[in-house]
Amino acid sequence: MITEGAEEEWLSPLLATWRGHRAWVLDRQIAITRIAAPTGNESARAQALQLAWEQGGHTVTRDAVGNVITRITPAPSGLPDATDVLAPVVCLAHLDTVFSADTPLAVRHDGPRLYCPGIGDNGRGLAAMLALAHVLHEPAVRTRLRRPVELVLTVGEEGAGNLRGARQWCDDAAASGVLPVAAVAVDGPGDTSIVHHAVGSTRLRITLSGAGGHSWADHATPNPVHAAGACIARIAQLAASVRPSAVVTVTRMHGGELLTGVPMHAWIDVDIRSLHPERLQSVRTAIEGLAADEARHESQRDPALPLHCTITSLGERPAGQLEAQHPLVLAATAATHAVGRVARSASASTDANLPLSRGIPAIAIGAGGTGRAAHTADEWYDDTDGDVGLERVLRLIITLGTTSDWTRPPATRRR
Ligand SMILES: [Zn+2]
Repeated sequence: MITEGAEEEWLSPLLATWRGHRAWVLDRQIAITRIAAPTGNESARAQALQLAWEQGGHTVTRDAVGNVITRITPAPSGLPDATDVLAPVVCLAHLDTVFSADTPLAVRHDGPRLYCPGIGDNGRGLAAMLALAHVLHEPAVRTRLRRPVELVLTVGEEGAGNLRGARQWCDDAAASGVLPVAAVAVDGPGDTSIVHHAVGSTRLRITLSGAGGHSWADHATPNPVHAAGACIARIAQLAASVRPSAVVTVTRMHGGELLTGVPMHAWIDVDIRSLHPERLQSVRTAIEGLAADEARHESQRDPALPLHCTITSLGERPAGQLEAQHPLVLAATAATHAVGRVARSASASTDANLPLSRGIPAIAIGAGGTGRAAHTADEWYDDTDGDVGLERVLRLIITLGTTSDWTRPPATRRR
């Protein structure tokens, strides 16, 4: 049996080789970013990544929602044959972007920066997944794997996607009866932060409708746009009162049909975020109450023509957290220190939310380099030190895959 412990002796040369491949990784990142992948329409990008994995000799499958999956199993030495019953480590990276299919995706170089929508989020994470598949397939790693590593490129992570891909993967894992020992989402650039607080969210649409009419003759008819405005003002007050345990934002609004008519319809969208599931629920209840209130208040202008108020859910992302001393957070911290960086605890909303809400230890980390302005047309990525964060990802996943008892604190681990 191969002993664990003197990991640096075999791992360091392998990782050094990978530092030499940084241009290859960056090329892949640019090529991936240039394939449009709006949430719900990720298939062209999924196809390209599937092909890349297949050309590397990997067996690739798609699940019911279009997640692209490959599994690196331990080389047949010293382990039971039935590796499919071993709980895997899973690594997730989302395929989709927030940008529409017609968004120009030319990459513009400006000094060390590469500008393109989606170049960091999640072009960087996806390029790291290609590198990971190669590294895990190396005999030096495969013969040391103690459990399978499953790499999953997920659909539907952004916005209205509602973590559809991660949800499907978790549902399938639960149905198979083999839950992973840990899940790591690789999302965007970065080499220090460890997201172990999963920000949950609830997205609501408040729709108000009424009879409408002529803006002169029917001016007393209850007006859904007026009620919507009153709701927005009250949500803004609520937002100020619930910080910092929750963040509430009115993100979109629409109302009215004619310049000269009392409107028939108005709607507003509200995004509620919190680390605490019970806080999400209490803010939601408060918003439901104030919307009904304002509809009633506006309806008093003509009780014969009351406004109707309906509230629908546009998405739910479950909240959750791992304590800072959890072995998965400690393993990520160790990988961060091993590449000479100082680990930083962070909170965000990622594919890791889903496994975390199902009791599977999960974190999210960046895939190296720096970047800003994600989710805007000005998004940029800088590959200076990009190899540092990529090495952190490789180290962490290799540790989780090759250390049989990584859940014990490093000091008490068998050597
Ligand atoms: Zn992302």
